[in-house]
Amino acid sequence: MQIVRLSHLADKAACPRLVVKVGSSLLVGADGVRRAWLEGLVGELAAARARGQDVIVVSSGAIALGAATLRLDKGGRGSLADAQAAAAVGQIALSGLWADLLGAHGLTAAQLLLTLDDLEDRRRYLNATATLTRLLDAGAVPVINENDSVATQEIRFGDNDRLAARVAQAAGASAVLLLSDVDGLFDRNPAQPGATLLAEVRGVTAEIHAMASGGSASGMGSGGMTSKLQAAEIAERAGIALAIASGLHDAPIERACGQGIGTLFLPRRKDAGRKAWLGGRLRLKGALVVDAGAARALAKGSSLLAAGVAAVEGEFQRGDAVAIRDGAGTTLAHGLAEYDALECARLMGRQSGEHGDILGYAPRSAVVHRDQLVLL
Ligand code: GLU
Repeated sequence: MQIVRLSHLADKAACPRLVVKVGSSLLVGADGVRRAWLEGLVGELAAARARGQDVIVVSSGAIALGAATLRLDKGGRGSLADAQAAAAVGQIALSGLWADLLGAHGLTAAQLLLTLDDLEDRRRYLNATATLTRLLDAGAVPVINENDSVATQEIRFGDNDRLAARVAQAAGASAVLLLSDVDGLFDRNPAQPGATLLAEVRGVTAEIHAMASGGSASGMGSGGMTSKLQAAEIAERAGIALAIASGLHDAPIERACGQGIGTLFLPRRKDAGRKAWLGGRLRLKGALVVDAGAARALAKGSSLLAAGVAAVEGEFQRGDAVAIRDGAGTTLAHGLAEYDALECARLMGRQSGEHGDILGYAPRSAVVHRDQLVLL
């Protein structure tokens, strides 16, 4: 059964496995943890479990909580060192809180702290899948956050929206519910008169991106609408529905799923395991810029041939994930390179018949084979 409306997120048949992401501003208020609200949410999660749905929580709030304890200014986000220290302190409280509240419903919380690399590296991604599957089979509720204290600036998610989408992929979830401090995506900045909440989005197009007004309203989390749309893009290619709804109310899941208040991003297609992982990769080792002919051939499902490559960027090895872009800078696809960057540079623009002489060994059939390529 396909997810086509918000109520399906609370339906066991349509959504056997649900990821719920809770933003920092919902968890932490001016006076510390918003415990009463969180108790209500955990009651809703327990109800989802009782209906037979698997539930995974992606919880922000470590930095905000730790910053309050350590009395760091700017909510602990003044510098990377502050954020990392704050997260180290706040994460203990955060996981204790979830364990307590879930425990009151007889549910066992399981903490996973992930870094970007844990989900970008194929082997580690599969390992995360195995752990999540085992935990869910054993009846636990995984509570996940980024491992903020060790993640370095260049290789961190930085927002839990994309983390939630990647976790949903790894866990084989049907849907992600991003609980935030906004009702969903509006057709323009919600502060402007006449702004309308979009109930449904079929494909995150350039027009949809233009509607996102940027930064987080609360200033507490780091997400904002931009990262939520990126999360929706990851989800929609992986056959996962994603909803944005407000958590600023009691019983937010009922409000989103029962009353239908929120924005639902419908899945666009269902890439299978490895292709979904590749399509959702956030950091790539390099890029191949292609000419218009190659771009057309790719769109028809062909492999990328060296003759159509116009430029090679970055340093990558054979087997590394690279972006494939057109001359205007639009990313058309992700793929695994059959050659390293130097060889790609030597082969680019050259016909296949010449490759053997250039390389000095029997060439491969393509620079990126279509089996190792995902159109975006
Ligand atoms: N991982 C961060 C935290 O726990 C939150 C990231 C975000 O704001 O999305 O505080």
